[in-house]
Amino acid sequence: MANWQSLHDELEQLKKEGRYRPLTVWDSSSGTWMTLNGRRVLQMSSNNYLGLTEHPELKEAAEQAIREYGAGSGSVRTITGTLRIHDELERELAAFKGTEAALVFQSGFTTNQGVLASLLGPDDVVISDELNHASIIDGIRLTKASRKIYAHKDMDQLEAALKQSAGFQKRVVVTDGVFSMDGDIAPLPAIVELAEAYDAFVYVDDAHASGVLGKNGKGSTDHFGLNGRVHMQVGTLSKAVGVVGGYVAGEQVLKDYLIHKARPFLFSTSQTPAVAASCLAAIRVLQKSDQLIGRLWANADYFRSGVQSLGFDTGASETPIIPVIVGDPAKTMQFSDLLLEEGVFAQGIVYPTVAMDKGRVRFIVTAGHTRQDLDFALDALKRAGQKLGML
Ligand SMILES: *Cc1c(COP(=O)(O)O)cnc(C)c1O
Repeated sequence: MANWQSLHDELEQLKKEGRYRPLTVWDSSSGTWMTLNGRRVLQMSSNNYLGLTEHPELKEAAEQAIREYGAGSGSVRTITGTLRIHDELERELAAFKGTEAALVFQSGFTTNQGVLASLLGPDDVVISDELNHASIIDGIRLTKASRKIYAHKDMDQLEAALKQSAGFQKRVVVTDGVFSMDGDIAPLPAIVELAEAYDAFVYVDDAHASGVLGKNGKGSTDHFGLNGRVHMQVGTLSKAVGVVGGYVAGEQVLKDYLIHKARPFLFSTSQTPAVAASCLAAIRVLQKSDQLIGRLWANADYFRSGVQSLGFDTGASETPIIPVIVGDPAKTMQFSDLLLEEGVFAQGIVYPTVAMDKGRVRFIVTAGHTRQDLDFALDALKRAGQKLGML
């Protein structure tokens, strides 16, 4: 009789390696202090960079949309699932990004899958940074395009790959804007120059840059003053924007094409009215003021230099994503557990998400953290680091 023995075996193996993780179940909203098993814990792993998940204007917009349009959208976008609120969100996103058009998907993950899979055919080549997000990798896997991977941010390797790609119909260079495990920023000016020299498209996934980098959080393209030179700007509505969803911003012809070709767009129901409305409210909050973003960066700089002063290795971090590199997977998870005992939640990230010897506890600083919160986390880091003999 069929049984799940192979699954049991694989899970046992994970347990042996210290990589087995039950889900953490939270009893409160996604704020800076959250409730876990009746205990208040300082949250330092949420992507809620600006605290928008709890913003009154987003919550009000969601409630109003439910009253006006109901709980669900009823179908995919191409049938009855495009409500006024979806159309408005796309218009405002395009204006925000300074592009002709934007197309919204259910998540950042499905945006990457949908765009890459429909854009790339057997005559095309995609050239991708080795540390790009899993959803980019999966999107590429869905295509018959040729693929070339360059070492992380290695512009010589990118140029070599472009040189070998002259025979393809479309050449597409894909990069994360901010890399999610290391918190470093892609060398977008160099990528754009090389792409222009070799007649390639540029595709940037700004999941961790939307609402974080650039004027009012417009992303990495704006941050580097490259407006008009990046062909596809993917963003998520799930992280700093505080809700859920993803989009691609670019030319109208790209949007028109994707409406007819992108499978997650064609075959999966659109965002609920409450989701679309609260995303729209979030984009309006971003456009009104960059105060939250200023606070976010001041907090990130304060915390990163505090962590470094204690003697920890923060890798290549230059954004609010601040990894503390531990190395061994089991020791990494032990470090994360010790921090939780101290009242700080920071996710341990180990193989296969990062290399086997590059386990890290990843901190994400937000605008909502106070100096007191950050000092509390630094104290916890010091005690946990001493217990593990890291300091
Ligand atoms: C989180 C993330 C995604 C996925 O976005 P969701 O909206 O959560 O599906 C895609 N790309 C990168 C680089 C990410 O960090």
